[in-house]
Amino acid sequence: MVAAVRRAAERGLAVRPVGSGYSESTLSLTGDVHLDCSALTGVVDLADDVVRVRAGARLTEVHAALAEHGRALATVPHGPGATVGGAIGTGTHGGSRQVGSLSAQVVGARFVDGTGTLRRAEDADLDALRCHLGALGVLTEVSLRTVAATVVDGHEEVVDPAEATAPGGPLDTRPWAALQVHLPSGEALLRWAGPAEQRDPVPEATGPVDAIGRVVTRLGHSASAQLSAQWSAQRSRPAPRWEGVPTAAPYVLLPTPDPARETSTEWAVPREALTTALRELHSATTTRELEIRRPVEVRVGPAETGWLHPAFGRATGWIAVRSPRGADDGPLFRLVGSVLEGMGGRPHWAGRHDWTAADLAVAYPRLPDFRAVRDRLDPDRRFAGAHMQALLGP
Ligand SMILES: Cc1cc2nc3c(=O)[nH]c(=O)nc-3n(C[C@H](O)[C@H](O)[C@H](O)COP(=O)(O)OP(=O)(O)OC[C@H]3O[C@@H](n4cnc5c(N)ncnc54)[C@H](O)[C@@H]3O)c2cc1C
Repeated sequence: MVAAVRRAAERGLAVRPVGSGYSESTLSLTGDVHLDCSALTGVVDLADDVVRVRAGARLTEVHAALAEHGRALATVPHGPGATVGGAIGTGTHGGSRQVGSLSAQVVGARFVDGTGTLRRAEDADLDALRCHLGALGVLTEVSLRTVAATVVDGHEEVVDPAEATAPGGPLDTRPWAALQVHLPSGEALLRWAGPAEQRDPVPEATGPVDAIGRVVTRLGHSASAQLSAQWSAQRSRPAPRWEGVPTAAPYVLLPTPDPARETSTEWAVPREALTTALRELHSATTTRELEIRRPVEVRVGPAETGWLHPAFGRATGWIAVRSPRGADDGPLFRLVGSVLEGMGGRPHWAGRHDWTAADLAVAYPRLPDFRAVRDRLDPDRRFAGAHMQALLGP
């Protein structure tokens, strides 16, 4: 990585690091050099409650390696194939009001800065690196806080969306939760997980989840599963994923398989604005005949300290709007952005959005601090690119 950055510098080329390339925004684009970090895999060290991993390691690999030692990452996002460096770069979050994003778990990092110098992150720079956008260097190793491994039960329930999103409702109180809301009909399915109940072992693990020898599946259909099965027959409705009450490690149970056929825009609104934001979204899109037909996904999370994290400084409600890949989603996504921006929303960096430096200057009070770190670590703007320039300025 050092040699690659230095060689690019000698030739006056811009470098964009790339992990798994999951981000739909143009964050990693450049006409010059793409640095594929996905070969930087593996766990370097595991001590007490911190794991040091190479930055190109995929989350699924890190989770599995930790599980062998009875440890886990507290944050479990949907995309198990994201790399650690890329996930942190965009502030990747899970579905817990209590547990912050993967960026929040970072306690240290090593990276190659814009001059081609290998550095260890200083504590003072960590809040810049927590949501780095690939603008500060090429991460080679990241140290992440770990927690004791647990096993959870998964549940799915048909709920009223206003009740589910109300402050103090299940999104806030369940250890992990994600709500699928079909805005036109008001139908909603809450998927949540909590500590596994003690029960007699089930002789054979069957059903959709089966992994790592610690997985059992309690059979039986809930009424909500039956009802939501009817919805799923209509493609655009919230679809149940689990049969009965599956039990597994969170990293096995919670990620969503294969959402690659969709594009998305996701926004972080102040937690207290979540219910109103969904109502406004429905009203604005219906009025303009841009109805959101796919289920909108809603999660919550705590305030973050990463200076450019969309949840910086405030408890957050995340609203993700998806569209089939290949559809003309421009008008819908622009409208979603303008409604949620009006409610104090900030876009997820990995999703589709049209924010520029002028928007960041208003929404991110610590942007000047981020820029100062960038000036120090990348004085010649080696990690530039059109999108980066639009977001952060020259
Ligand atoms: C199926 C799927 C599920 C998802 N689920 C969630 C979710 O639950 N929650 C959520 O918040 N997001 C989610 N996302 C978004 C995803 O977490 C982000 O797109 C994340 O950045 C992907 O990691 P990546 O390795 O693909 O990074 P990339 O998209 O390759 O890169 C992202 C950014 O990080 C930079 N970068 C990558 N590697 C390095 C490195 N080693 N050093 C420095 N910079 C680097 C890139 O330049 C770029 O700016 C999901 C995406 C998909 C496709």
